[in-house]
Amino acid sequence: FNVPKAVNEPVKSYAPNTPERKQVLDTYKKMYNETIDVPMYIGSEEVRTGHTATMSPPHDHKHILGTYHKAEKQHVDLAISTALEAKEKWASTSWEHRAAIFLKAAELLSGPYRAKMNAATMLAQSKNVFQAEIDAACELIDFLTFNVQFMTEIYQNQPISDKGIWNRMEYRPLEGFIYAVTPFNFTAIAANLCAAPVMLGNVCVWKPSDSQVYSAQVIVELFKEAGLPDGVINVVYGDPVMITNTILEHKEFSGLHFTGSTNIFKSLWAQIGQNINKYKSYPRIVGETGGKDFIWAHPSANPIAVATAMSRGAFEYQGQKCSAASRSYVPKSIWNDVKKRLTKDVNSMKMGSPEDPSNFINAVIHEGSFDKITKYIDKAKSDSDSEVILGGNYDKSKGYFIEPTVIVTTNPNYTTMETELFGPVLTIYVYEDADWKSTLKMVDETSEYALTGAIYSQDRYAIEYASKVLENAAGNFYINDKPTGAVVGQQPFGGGRGSGTNDKAGSIWNLLRWVSPRTIKEAL
Ligand code: GLU
Repeated sequence: FNVPKAVNEPVKSYAPNTPERKQVLDTYKKMYNETIDVPMYIGSEEVRTGHTATMSPPHDHKHILGTYHKAEKQHVDLAISTALEAKEKWASTSWEHRAAIFLKAAELLSGPYRAKMNAATMLAQSKNVFQAEIDAACELIDFLTFNVQFMTEIYQNQPISDKGIWNRMEYRPLEGFIYAVTPFNFTAIAANLCAAPVMLGNVCVWKPSDSQVYSAQVIVELFKEAGLPDGVINVVYGDPVMITNTILEHKEFSGLHFTGSTNIFKSLWAQIGQNINKYKSYPRIVGETGGKDFIWAHPSANPIAVATAMSRGAFEYQGQKCSAASRSYVPKSIWNDVKKRLTKDVNSMKMGSPEDPSNFINAVIHEGSFDKITKYIDKAKSDSDSEVILGGNYDKSKGYFIEPTVIVTTNPNYTTMETELFGPVLTIYVYEDADWKSTLKMVDETSEYALTGAIYSQDRYAIEYASKVLENAAGNFYINDKPTGAVVGQQPFGGGRGSGTNDKAGSIWNLLRWVSPRTIKEAL
């Protein structure tokens, strides 16, 4: 099991006058000015149905980047049968040859595809170049290279044998096909939800988010160029209800790999339950869903560190990360210092299009999201138990821009302390220092989610106490660091409760869900 050792892809700086900055901005401009027509890829076919929708950058929603083609039911049926046909060859291809394709994809992305993948993510998902780089380049490369390594670790795990007996485990893919339903917010997650099962010999039907079609197209091109055989990943766009109904009715449906909203995940789970007698096998269900991620500070916390965690954890990528900090608990004694620094940070955040890398804040993903977030901001302006202390303005005339907004509330159960907004809004509850222990209980009980959370303290006993009280409150728990930015291989990612099945993306635990081991005993 000799594979190149996985190491995290270094993050490029994109500082002014660097070649990578020029290259990505030139690519962005070129892609902005051309119009593309995105087909669905089903086997070797580029399917154009003529039933199309347009794509626009969220920061420039009147500009058309191109069109993409949507499926009718017959195309979804075709995607399933094509996947199953491709499975015969793909599942029996030896692991080295499957691995080599994904290692090649990582090489291509590290080199010639980097600017294109980043620019697509900047355009389609409104990320600045730094946020694109840590996602579409580095995290995706890491998913590919680390998962190849984890795959070999799975295959090496073998039972003991006895005299005259040879026991072995054969790690087969699941029988049937996988359905990958992927989100807009991370290009890396979208690619990985397909690539992880496929690497192990599975085949999939992929339904990307309608807000991520542009970068999905580049992912398809990347995998094709790396040599992924036709039919192993089949892409369908369009009506999610029709697509899902068609797939979840199919006898060979064997697994759901999902990142998206809690409600949709629950409804898919229920639908799978209703269809359970139709399937050949019990489907594997792996999902990462919402979050209401916290930053809790102890009176001993360093206020500058707390404020930095807030500004980066809550506002990078406009707060549209499942891991984004959106509720915070700060003791009175350090609140003034935290507030001073947070105000300075937030006031220095420029807002605008990603074509200017100095814009820290770009647009939120679409009008529906803009309307939902701003409704909560307006309510916070008029409610008596909340106050908008920073930001609070918004404008959707050119793009869906919302200022980074900080709400302070006197009510620890205020709606924006509990409800996931998926936008640039942080709500802070200031507590009496002496109440720090009971505040931890609040952190644990306020939300239905348990994805990420950060505690800040310089008191080791308080850290130990908080870690214990919050043991089920976050699948990714950060001590004196912000709750976003998990790195593949370093902080396996996922949470429990309403946040998902906690199958830890970017780790061996996720890959284990996509194999169905056969135990073999042979008498010698
Ligand atoms: N892995 C990402 C992080 O730690 C978040 C993933 C997500 O938003 O789904 O920031």
